[in-house]
Amino acid sequence: MLIGTCENCGSSEVTLTLVRRVYIVPESWDSVGSETVMDEIEEWCNSCTSNYPFVLVEADQV
Ligand SMILES: [Zn+2]
Repeated sequence: MLIGTCENCGSSEVTLTLVRRVYIVPESWDSVGSETVMDEIEEWCNSCTSNYPFVLVEADQV
């Protein structure tokens, strides 16, 4: 298990999950929605992974 500082909110000594951030653009009257997955791998705490969209990074992909 990975313990350290969350790269999203800055909380220290938290359990970290390796993620790729996902930016979601909601659908609107003049455009279709989209989802963009970032290339950069970040380490997030549990609170961030429950509040923000992300894609889980498997250990063997790092
Ligand atoms: Zn966090």
